[in-house]
Amino acid sequence: MKLYPLFADLSRRAVLVVGGGAVAERKIAALLGAQAQVTVNAPTLTPQLQRWVAAGRIAHRRDAFQESWLDRVWLVVAATSDVELNRVIATFAGLRRIFVNVVDDAALSSFHVPAVVDRAPLTIAISSGGEAPMLARLLRERLETLLDHSLGALATLAARLRRRIRLRHPDLAARRRFYEGLFAGPVATLLRQGRPEQARQAAEQALAAAPAASTGSVVLVGAGPGDPGLLTLRALRALNEADVILHDRLVSAEVLDLARRDAERIEVGKQAGHHHTTQDGIHALLLQHARAGRRVVRLKGGDPFVFGRGGEELEFLRDHGIPYEVVPGITAAVACAAYAGVPLTHRDHAQSVRFVTAHCQSSRDTLDWAALAQERQTLAVYMGVAELAELRARLIEHGRAPSTPFALIENGSRPEQRVITGTLANLAERAALHAVRSPALLILGEVAALAVSLAWFGQPPLGATVHEIPVPNVARPIRTNALAAVHRA
Ligand code: SAH
Repeated sequence: MKLYPLFADLSRRAVLVVGGGAVAERKIAALLGAQAQVTVNAPTLTPQLQRWVAAGRIAHRRDAFQESWLDRVWLVVAATSDVELNRVIATFAGLRRIFVNVVDDAALSSFHVPAVVDRAPLTIAISSGGEAPMLARLLRERLETLLDHSLGALATLAARLRRRIRLRHPDLAARRRFYEGLFAGPVATLLRQGRPEQARQAAEQALAAAPAASTGSVVLVGAGPGDPGLLTLRALRALNEADVILHDRLVSAEVLDLARRDAERIEVGKQAGHHHTTQDGIHALLLQHARAGRRVVRLKGGDPFVFGRGGEELEFLRDHGIPYEVVPGITAAVACAAYAGVPLTHRDHAQSVRFVTAHCQSSRDTLDWAALAQERQTLAVYMGVAELAELRARLIEHGRAPSTPFALIENGSRPEQRVITGTLANLAERAALHAVRSPALLILGEVAALAVSLAWFGQPPLGATVHEIPVPNVARPIRTNALAAVHRA
């Protein structure tokens, strides 16, 4: 963000607008709406500006712009068609540290005027930093149709009751819940229906009702693979209602951005080398916040029940009598497959799919390798980046063909997604060549060949043509000169 958004209180503060045309008129109308004391400086004025002058709503200076006028104003708007004059005004304003807006000149301006959706006392301001004003305008039009005009009345009513609500619900979480009921319930509906008196009565009733005892709860939410568009509506609602969010490192910033602003966010990533919270530590945090009456969202990458330890967390909550819900998410295998154009099953190529992790020694030894090595099935391997050579050895040893195609998807569904393709024979080398990092998901099986022809998202797959990658003899380690050849290619 290059601009710092702020809402200025200009009531009874002097503002100078240089220019008397249609643009100046628009700016002055908005300034008058904010009760600014406007002086307009121009030899001629639009009829509307003349009427405002005649009615004493704005002052008028006819003579040429003088630097000394800036001494008594808070803001200045340069809205003349004279580029040189605009520049002079901007320079003098800068010297005095007065904010200046030069119409249609973002570079000369030290403040921009946003596109505004007005639901006073609620104001929504949109800026593209001067880069895409049309887009800002379009967004404003959308918001205009989305936000009912009764929102202003709702905000006014809430403002009037604010002190009493605070007294009635001294606890922040309880107060939040009361407001949510007020803004989403019958009071809002009555205002939308144009019945302000009934709305006021309904608000009084709600205020008089006994506050509901606040019992904390936990919602285990799947955040999907990263693209916020892949959140479920339920996940979005849970994020909007949360008092506290305990999230994994894997959860993308874009998803976290959708959560309520004032929800407390706690990262409980378990990645080595980073802030480290043990599973017991996570359990303790869940318990502590839920017992304090908060609505806790436990936000996990992908789906909470797929290699997410969601089951352990629910067992713990059940044992401690904390109410819980689960919101499924789109798991990495499903998302990566979709975003790489690899159907996990296909009538011609694969009749089953397995989600596996070969993350730790113990899981490697308990996996049924003979079954995993069967043909015409798809393996989706989680947490496997470091184990690719081992994985290849075991699968080939159990009969999977070295020519079996793979697609390795790094940062699936995110803007930085990469897809690396190849065959089981050169899997580890292809991954090393492209320095694939976690999070990455391996799809191995006949279907993976489709990544090349069905790709639709992001960069095309980094595939190897036949002569680019020498197929190594997997029985022996790959020859370094072969790798060097790959690098040259
Ligand atoms: N519960 C998660 C999985 C957690 S295990 C889910 O359902 O997706 C973490 C592993 O998931 C990573 O090592 C990686 O293999 C995979 N993964 C998660 N997000 C991913 C993404 N955006 N792109 C590729 N792989 C991802």
